Amino acid sequence: MTDDFLLETRGLTREFSGFTAVNKVDLRVRRHSIHALIGPNGAGKTTCFNLITKFLQPSSGAILLDGRDITRTKPADVARLGMVRSFQISATFPQLTSLENVEVALQRSLGRSFHFWRSKRTLAPLREQAMTLLDDVGLAFAANRVVADLPYGQKRALELATTLALNPEMLLLDEPTAGMGREDVARTVALIRRISPNRTILMVEHNLSVVADLSDRITVLARGEILAEGAYGAISTDPRVKEAYMGK
Ligand code: ADP
Repeated sequence: MTDDFLLETRGLTREFSGFTAVNKVDLRVRRHSIHALIGPNGAGKTTCFNLITKFLQPSSGAILLDGRDITRTKPADVARLGMVRSFQISATFPQLTSLENVEVALQRSLGRSFHFWRSKRTLAPLREQAMTLLDDVGLAFAANRVVADLPYGQKRALELATTLALNPEMLLLDEPTAGMGREDVARTVALIRRISPNRTILMVEHNLSVVADLSDRITVLARGEILAEGAYGAISTDPRVKEAYMGK
């Protein structure tokens, strides 16, 4: 039933000069769940993400968002329909403060111009909303810091805040803990959990303990195809998954 799934791919396939990177993938992401896409290097995870967010066109197959066919929809229109990839539209401005960055993102989500958001009258309610978002990602204390001066973990948290400014129903997270030390990983896991209620999250993540902590369901890709699907307990003991990770 389409109803239970916010995102569905049907026979999603992408070839690159005769090489099939993603092969007939039927992915179903349940509404209001956290779903992880994992697999060894070269499995096709990034290509899948790029296809779903329309950065790449599929060779064949279809993508449905809330039952609506978005296979031929432009990336910006997909974002307008409520599916946003973190770090996609939310490019941060390093010379502005955290607060100003979120304000810009909020204005963009309203489709307003740069000049409009600079007027004092429109800034007050916006500032309040931006502060709430910063608070949501645990960055209220850094509201007036210039982004260029923030440590890496805080920059990633800010990117998430600017993504949330678009109020997406579906969030695609591309390796949210990549390059982080243990403390930032723990903070990011807590943060994803905090923003997950009433949202649907699909993430590509290499850190399997993060996957175990957060995911309701996991899809394992290998050589462009779905190898296994299920909860972490079943996936982690599946001999086919172990074999794929061993590179046999
Ligand atoms: P993953 O994200 O799981 O590591 P990718 O989706 O990046 O895997 O890549 C899957 C396969 O597709 C790899 O073998 C990769 O070399 C190939 N591939 C990805 N993008 C391109 C491209 N633009 N041109 C040719 N081959 C590509």
